Amino acid sequence: MNKFILSFLVMTTTVILSACSSSEQKSEDEISPETPIAQEESGDISATVCTSGTDLSLIPENYLIALEKYALTNSEYSVYVCTEDANNDGEADYMVIESTNLPEHESVYFDESNHHHKDFDFTTNQHKYDSVYNGTQRLGSAGNNKIEAQSIIMKMPINPTSANTKTATSFATIGLALNGVSFFNENAAPGDEITEELFTFDQCSGHPQQQGVYHYHVDPVCLIRDLGGNVNSETITVDNKTYQWLEDDGSNGSLLLGFLKDGFPVYGPVGNDEKDCSGINIDTSTIDQYNGHSHCTAEFDSAIYHYHVKTAELGGTGSPVFWITNEYFYGIPGIIQQ
Ligand SMILES: [Zn+2]
Ligand SMILES: [Zn+2]
Repeated sequence: MNKFILSFLVMTTTVILSACSSSEQKSEDEISPETPIAQEESGDISATVCTSGTDLSLIPENYLIALEKYALTNSEYSVYVCTEDANNDGEADYMVIESTNLPEHESVYFDESNHHHKDFDFTTNQHKYDSVYNGTQRLGSAGNNKIEAQSIIMKMPINPTSANTKTATSFATIGLALNGVSFFNENAAPGDEITEELFTFDQCSGHPQQQGVYHYHVDPVCLIRDLGGNVNSETITVDNKTYQWLEDDGSNGSLLLGFLKDGFPVYGPVGNDEKDCSGINIDTSTIDQYNGHSHCTAEFDSAIYHYHVKTAELGGTGSPVFWITNEYFYGIPGIIQQ
């Protein structure tokens, strides 16, 4: 209907937003809102690459099914897929995802004027992560941070390959979920502990940092639900008050969640139910130190390296906390502009 006009408005707005507060890469420092932002580099203002929206024509064939999901998952906020010929030799060098980074699910961190705003009692996290809770963590919001539209461009190598020397992931956007939301790694910014930050997560296990970049460090339960994965609703009643939250049921190992900027896909947590493209159960002992392994999947006919959300020993109500990924990229990382 007026989708094109709406998209144009969103794009225009985000370009203006990024022009006001552009930095090379917006990093994690949300837990101490009183701490000044370390640096606001005057990096280049992100230029749109997918100028005509999604264009899959030069996407490698084996990536088509998976990348098309970016264009289909978030129906409300813009996520575009295209390619870039960076050196003008007539061949595509990058698979590009452009996103406004806005989740199409509920969050207490949306401004109240947004229809996805939903209240959340942060005490719930004390129960959700009870084995991590030591009585000293702050059960509350990530400062006054609110979710704000971004202009994020992720450029993944057109032919992702294993890196001989692995690059460390940064304390910033390292990949994008299928709904266009940033993946951050398992670490908080230096000086903060992720075991503290857990308690600032919203009802969908995400939170925004100071510039309003909403992100997932752990298994994105609402996205899993929205993608048709399996989540359980957990409840506990304490002092006549009932707390309710979503938990991954451990059977979403075959669910594609997004990509890291090295071009390798991220699937759900390693569980008992991961099957390959022909329905054969996967032996999870093959998971390497980067929390991935290779086999074919529903989206990839031939074996492809892919990450799985990591299950850590910490936390959860009898269930582990599921971290997004490891300290290092398996492949050669592409570029993220925002
Ligand atoms: Zn964070
Ligand atoms: Zn796998």
